[in-house]
Amino acid sequence: MKGVAVLGSTGSIGVSTLDVLARHPDRYRVVALTAHRNVGRLIEQCRQHRPAYAVIVDKDEAAHLRQAVDDLRLPTRVLSGKEALDTIASLEEVDHVMAAIVGAAGLQATLSAARAGKRILLANKEALVMSGRLLIDTAREHGAELLPIDSEHNAIFQCLPPKRHVSDDGGVTRILLTASGGPFLRTPASELADVTPEQACNHPNWDMGRKISVDSATMMNKGLEVIEACLLFDTDPDKVQVVVHPQSIVHSLVQYVDGSVLAQLGNPDMRTPIAHALAWPGRIDAGVTPLDLPAVGRLEFEAPDQARFPCLRLAFEAIRHGATMPAVLNAANEVAVEAFLDRRLGFDGIPMVIEQVMSKAETPAAASLDEILAVDRQAREQALQVIGRMQKGTGT
Ligand code: NDP
Repeated sequence: MKGVAVLGSTGSIGVSTLDVLARHPDRYRVVALTAHRNVGRLIEQCRQHRPAYAVIVDKDEAAHLRQAVDDLRLPTRVLSGKEALDTIASLEEVDHVMAAIVGAAGLQATLSAARAGKRILLANKEALVMSGRLLIDTAREHGAELLPIDSEHNAIFQCLPPKRHVSDDGGVTRILLTASGGPFLRTPASELADVTPEQACNHPNWDMGRKISVDSATMMNKGLEVIEACLLFDTDPDKVQVVVHPQSIVHSLVQYVDGSVLAQLGNPDMRTPIAHALAWPGRIDAGVTPLDLPAVGRLEFEAPDQARFPCLRLAFEAIRHGATMPAVLNAANEVAVEAFLDRRLGFDGIPMVIEQVMSKAETPAAASLDEILAVDRQAREQALQVIGRMQKGTGT
């Protein structure tokens, strides 16, 4: 029986994780659930999964959650505040930590899980992009396992040779990272300025949280994934190629020196990588509809349009620049996406903000969490200033 903590249980990945766990009550016990402020969904999840701990980060909602837990006579201890996430991530009775908080807010708890030597199911790519080697090295030092949940990285993990690091060679020459192209793959570039948050969040193949949906629409999601691939698989950005594949059936591929290309395929359903990472090196049922290739019919591939999706170029620039530039890119993107979702910034303003922040950023080679958080804070302040100037129409 493995104990599982689901950080971000009320989100899209959290809900899919609980669906997989509920199919295997003989193998997994839900020890802890966490939410930011969606107390209604968290109460419902506590009722169904009866965890030992529930965390609501927003302290104003804690009384409501405690009352509900009492009324329902649940065996659940309620904690609140963001420090509680660190407590949960390092609990003795937790074996696997699903890191599914969105954005930079998930970094500290993920690092705590690494320090506690847990198996980390890493959905929260922003934590890795921000922290760079720090998360990888902390995991290595404390014997924690980092298993990728992003469907692409999970696919690569499955296709790599046993050592699973490109630098160990194993004959790997290239990683091919597939991208759906998002909802605006065929939208004329001249119309992108008028795109609304509703249109951007309407992904053709995946049902995801709002932030990653916007990232998919700008292709920053793929950019973050390029950085994630370089870090997770210890490879050079020149060995990572992004390939647009609108059907989202081939989740990524690994090319070998002898000309072989191995791919992982499946219907677009996050329960597949979640089940894989939970059970690895075994396999468990994920509840996913089996792939019917004749019904799919065509699998198409094309090169990404760098002019239409400048975020992809910016992400490659950030990882090539190295040091803390990926943290700057991530912070500026989070601020810009939030402004877009709040209708304070146009869709085409997102890459403009990131580019301006990156062009002026100081990027020390940070080795500690405090240093990374300082770079993150500064980039956020600069992004807010750039957005303010854009709103006033004073440009750069
Ligand atoms: P959602 O927005 O659906 O869920 C985010 C979760 O994080 C919610 O539980 C939310 O709580 C919680 N949360 C938000 N802000 C905070 C905070 N400040 N402190 C603590 N908890 C917080 O996101 P997704 O599930 O779509 O994505 C989660 C992560 O997984 C992201 O990093 C994303 O890039 C990655 N990912 C997602 C995929 C997908 O298909 N959705 C695919 C691959 C990766 P509340 O509900 O209370 O707001």
